[in-house]
Amino acid sequence: MENERFDLEDVLRRASDAPRALTPSEIEGLLAIEDEDGMGRLFAAAHAVKVRRCGMGVAARGLVEAGNMCAKDCLYCGIRKSNSAVRRYALSADEIVSAAEEAKSLDYASLVIQSGEIEGEAHTRFIEEVLRRIAPLGLGVTLSLGEQTEETYARWRAAGAERYLLRIETSSPALYARLHPADCSWERRVECLRALRRTGYQVGTGVMCALPGQTHADLAADILFYADLDVDMIGMGPYIPHADTPLGRDVKWTPEDAAQRLELGLRMIAVTRLYLHDVNIAAATALQALDPEGREKGLLAGANVVMPNVTDVAYRADYQLYAGKPCLNENSTLCRGCLERRIAAIGETINWKQRGDSPHWGKR
Ligand code: SAM
Ligand code: SF4
Repeated sequence: MENERFDLEDVLRRASDAPRALTPSEIEGLLAIEDEDGMGRLFAAAHAVKVRRCGMGVAARGLVEAGNMCAKDCLYCGIRKSNSAVRRYALSADEIVSAAEEAKSLDYASLVIQSGEIEGEAHTRFIEEVLRRIAPLGLGVTLSLGEQTEETYARWRAAGAERYLLRIETSSPALYARLHPADCSWERRVECLRALRRTGYQVGTGVMCALPGQTHADLAADILFYADLDVDMIGMGPYIPHADTPLGRDVKWTPEDAAQRLELGLRMIAVTRLYLHDVNIAAATALQALDPEGREKGLLAGANVVMPNVTDVAYRADYQLYAGKPCLNENSTLCRGCLERRIAAIGETINWKQRGDSPHWGKR
């Protein structure tokens, strides 16, 4: 990136005027901004595009962490199957349905059901049953249950799920291979994203940023990957080391690290907003784990979705993907009040009782 030829004002103006207006090296240049003034201008431009294309307001989804059993061993994740320090749980269908009912009573119009990855007929049928039971609530349901066969995705779609979030984690197959055991396939993940589109979901993907060995060029390629796949929703956030994982074991944690990870996460949100304009972008919980105001900062950098936890507090400590997970003891009612105050403090409001479908999807 030739910084001396990088005219920030001109780049931000072109990016604000039209989606997909930046070159890969301009995307990289925006991701590399580290001075406060430059970042402030970047975030303000991205927030203005968010307001123009997605409206003034924030979409909320209740997040249910349905279980931490996982067949996979991703090297970064706290609930990977080889972490024997984790107390494993799986919510019953009744427990998921009552979390959905509670979310509805708290005015959420959308729900995300997330868990470790389990494949097989029994699990497919279990999720189908859950979806059929919550369908009468009329919530917009997102699933985030990992890689599955196209047939399974189709059955869950038929049972009422409308959106699916499957992060690609990184668009670089080489970096992906360094973060996963040999039995995980980047190609299969891409194929799953295509299958989700074919089966009629609003499709979401995303990456982790601040991964070891990851460059700004990798992150620029991630944003181009979102554009290539023409996704509707993006859920991405900083990688946060977990001490009981191969990738996080020897990481020494400093407040400066946390600040840098947060800032990179915010720049990824802002540049993605400037490149894609009308997709839904979540202010990930990982931002809040790095800074109590991380979620609000994400919204001011161009995100338009928040996903507060509505899982029973009895299970929250058992679903720790990374260090510093927030709101471990705050039940859904407290969360709702806290969220409202925090969002009001940045001059935005939550669009309660609205599903908040991706505007990009609406135009498809
Ligand atoms: N098992 C499903 C899957 O992997 O798609 C869904 C649940 S998984 C826990 C959701 C996301 O958590 C992953 O896509 C990954 O990006 C994120 N994650 C896992 N470990 C993380 C870490 N240490 N720091 C930040 N994000 C992490
Ligand atoms: Fe399992 Fe998802 Fe964690 Fe990988 S990221 S170990 S698939 S829960």
